[in-house]
Amino acid sequence: MAERDYDVIVIGGGNAALCAALMAREAGASVLMLESAPREWRGGNSQHTRNLRCMHDAPQDVLTDSYPEEEYWQDLKKVTGGITSESLARLAIRDSSHCRDWMRRHGVRFQPSLSGTLQLSRTNAFFLGGGKALLNAYYRSAEELGVHVRYDAPVDRLELDRGRFVAAHLGAERIAAKACVVASGGFESNREWMREAWGQIKGEWVADNFLIRGTRFNMGVLLKFLIDAGADPVGDPTQSHCVAIDARAPLYDGGICTRVDSVSLGIVVNRQAERFYDEGEDFWPKRYAIWGRLISYQPGQIAYSLIDAKAIGRFMPPVFPPLEAQSLPELARKLGLDESALTRTVDGFNAACRGGTFDHAALDDCVTAGLTPPKTHWARPIDTAPFYAYPLRPGITFTYLGVKVDERAAVHFSGQPSPNLFAAGEIMAGNVLGKGYTAGVGMTIGTAFGRIAGAQSAAAAMREKMHAAA
Ligand SMILES: Cc1cc2nc3c(=O)[nH]c(=O)nc-3n(C[C@H](O)[C@H](O)[C@H](O)COP(=O)(O)OP(=O)(O)OC[C@H]3O[C@@H](n4cnc5c(N)ncnc54)[C@H](O)[C@@H]3O)c2cc1C
Repeated sequence: MAERDYDVIVIGGGNAALCAALMAREAGASVLMLESAPREWRGGNSQHTRNLRCMHDAPQDVLTDSYPEEEYWQDLKKVTGGITSESLARLAIRDSSHCRDWMRRHGVRFQPSLSGTLQLSRTNAFFLGGGKALLNAYYRSAEELGVHVRYDAPVDRLELDRGRFVAAHLGAERIAAKACVVASGGFESNREWMREAWGQIKGEWVADNFLIRGTRFNMGVLLKFLIDAGADPVGDPTQSHCVAIDARAPLYDGGICTRVDSVSLGIVVNRQAERFYDEGEDFWPKRYAIWGRLISYQPGQIAYSLIDAKAIGRFMPPVFPPLEAQSLPELARKLGLDESALTRTVDGFNAACRGGTFDHAALDDCVTAGLTPPKTHWARPIDTAPFYAYPLRPGITFTYLGVKVDERAAVHFSGQPSPNLFAAGEIMAGNVLGKGYTAGVGMTIGTAFGRIAGAQSAAAAMREKMHAAA
């Protein structure tokens, strides 16, 4: 088939793109997928995932108890502070109740929740083999169904005619199609854009110290192109899922094993060896996603999670071993912190701990008194050698700035839906996630809108064909 004869072009190579390509192909469309990464790096951030959050009214294979639509919606409303579209959020939530049978048909397998710091057995279905296995299954199924996949194929611009998709351009190459799904992720890998979005805080270009947890290929080229071409934007460029990760993680693709989960068991200090936030504010699964942003506002965007021997075995250790010392001054030296400042901070914290009964599985009564900021749970003196520290940096998972879509996943231009250009995944996740996050919802949004965009793009291509025939 000549490339210009495709019904649908899907741009991207992650979960949202694959869901779209599979649905479009199942609906009878000929489909070309253009993935900017080489084959060995295919799959974007989706390759790092472990699970998706699913609505269910009764226990289902790997999911315990129930997680009804209303509870899911209330969770989403709470974490986003209401900066979300209820109709689009509910659409994704409802899709999550029945998408797994379709996923299984394309080779995805599920397993019960892994134990660890985040307790998700009720709400999240885990992929057997993780996101990599999910992607491999989808790619295999797509190829068997006749989806054409091209790697090393970064699309740099689209040809549009008043919001209508005409062709995709890769350098000098032009590929026309009857409809298009853009599923090319956010812009988190684009360090220049991140720098510009965050700007300077107290004279520092804060984004220069961010690490990117996932792919290096989400440069936001088409997101920028679409916004410049008049697509309605949604979301704030500084909003993202951003967690505290080990400062020794690589710039890209560190994945989940670099996340540091020891925060609530000790204290966190900045470069001046000072505490700056309540480490025990709430259960870690409800707080882990705020720590990347908190560290962004600290000098040099660096912080240190300090624990003592009592904390060992109570959290999932990250891939890098902690720095270890027999005394606090020795630990300070290893971290490059002022010895007396660190000792003063820890002594002050220890003196403020008010006893209580330590229980990491409950919001216990181990609190500090007379300390700013307080530690409101799990406050125990840091007094038992060896002492340990993890250096922390903000780790960006994905950005929320996107293009506005409707229930058909159609991209909007000045309030009007495009007849044949659709968006799915991170590039439109900001419609649902204005800020905040709840574990597993990224894959819920990508799966739901990928499937919708795929079906809609096939229907749009069919309409274009009928129109041309008439
Ligand atoms: C470490 C980590 C762990 C995560 N864990 C989870 C989890 O367990 N559950 C969950 O729900 N979410 C998780 N997420 C978030 C999740 O990865 C995303 O929400 C989801 O994968 C988004 O899917 P997507 O297809 O939109 O983007 P991606 O999977 O990032 O895919 C984007 C694709 O577009 C391609 N691309 C980019 N630009 C172009 C271009 N110009 N031309 C052609 N192709 C292009 C990229 O190469 C990539 O293949 C995690 C993210 C990370 C980084």
